[in-house]
Amino acid sequence: MTSLNRQWVLARRPVGQVSLEDFARRDALVPVPNLAAGEILVRVVMIGFDPAQRGWMDDGDSYMPPMPVGGPVRGSAAARVEASNNPAYPEGSLVRGLFGWQDYAVTARVGETPPVLIPLGVTPEEALGVLGAASLTAHIGLNRVGRLRAGDTVLVSGAAGAVGSVAVQIARLKGARVIGAAGGPEKCRWLTSDYGADAAIDYRNENVSERLAILAPKGIDLFFDNVGGAMLEAGIDHVARFGRIVLCGAISGYNDVEAAPGPRNLMRMIAQRAEMRGFILPDHLDHVPAARHELEVWLRAGKIRYRVDIQEGFENISKTFLRLFSGLNQGKQLLRLL
Ligand code: NDP
Repeated sequence: MTSLNRQWVLARRPVGQVSLEDFARRDALVPVPNLAAGEILVRVVMIGFDPAQRGWMDDGDSYMPPMPVGGPVRGSAAARVEASNNPAYPEGSLVRGLFGWQDYAVTARVGETPPVLIPLGVTPEEALGVLGAASLTAHIGLNRVGRLRAGDTVLVSGAAGAVGSVAVQIARLKGARVIGAAGGPEKCRWLTSDYGADAAIDYRNENVSERLAILAPKGIDLFFDNVGGAMLEAGIDHVARFGRIVLCGAISGYNDVEAAPGPRNLMRMIAQRAEMRGFILPDHLDHVPAARHELEVWLRAGKIRYRVDIQEGFENISKTFLRLFSGLNQGKQLLRLL
């Protein structure tokens, strides 16, 4: 084992658009495996990138405490157990958790969310991708929060991404008619040809509201929104009577210096007796095992298709994170270290 623990730290809190200057490289020593009872030392093999990390970099009240400036950037990863003082995590096993942008981490400390064992036969890219938090978010957001029903007309925004692409396919598998919105003709082609959407809207090149009027003349029964802003407004314009809007994410505003004014058409929610509800995955952990099981069954039966965008190299970690905000990522954004 090398004694160097390479790290990317949060150099300062981003203001507005997150940039490379917000991060810095640092080398620390590998935490000596002088582990307290229950602790393990892990070596990161693959890093997963989530738009929510941008929010954790801000100083403010949220569902997670802000990342400390000067500390390793918080983020999800798959890792191999290098040393263990905990029988639940044998040396050599693979685990998933918030290990951060670094080579090594000591985890499973008392009071921390415990890492999750990756079952044999599941790869790191599956554990961080199709069987990870993004897919569970799609499953639980649609079914538990959005009360998806067969026959619904469903709109998914951010539909070619990690959460969105699985949301599109789950809605189809459950008998809904699905419209996906994504940026650019290529991602829109994936939506209809790979993910089975009934229609796709290229929000960069088309008028979303006009297209929805044509594609959903009776309105949207369930809108799974990953984007917020103008996209949310367009969805509200076309919400069906008693429709449901699930607020999963609002990536269009994550880099705003000042929050944009909210949707201007909320009156429409009243006229349509519609509802809108935000959610975060950690509130629904009791439903995770059943959702993961169903996803795995679909995956192994070839009913769910999934794209991973795997970058390489420790030096490229911060650059890779920025891909999420320009739409460069082609599916779930990952980076391989080992
Ligand atoms: P994606 O894989 O979808 O990657 C992000 C995508 O967002 C980009 O590829 C791009 O797609 C789109 N995007 C980026 N900037 C903008 C913009 N300004 N306007 C519109 N679209 C933009 O990421 P995830 O699937 O991991 O996450 C999707 C959403 O789900 C995020 O909002 C995230 O915060 C949320 N989320 C919520 C969770 C919860 O518990 N509520 C849990 C996990 C994720 P395109 O090229 O199509 O523009």
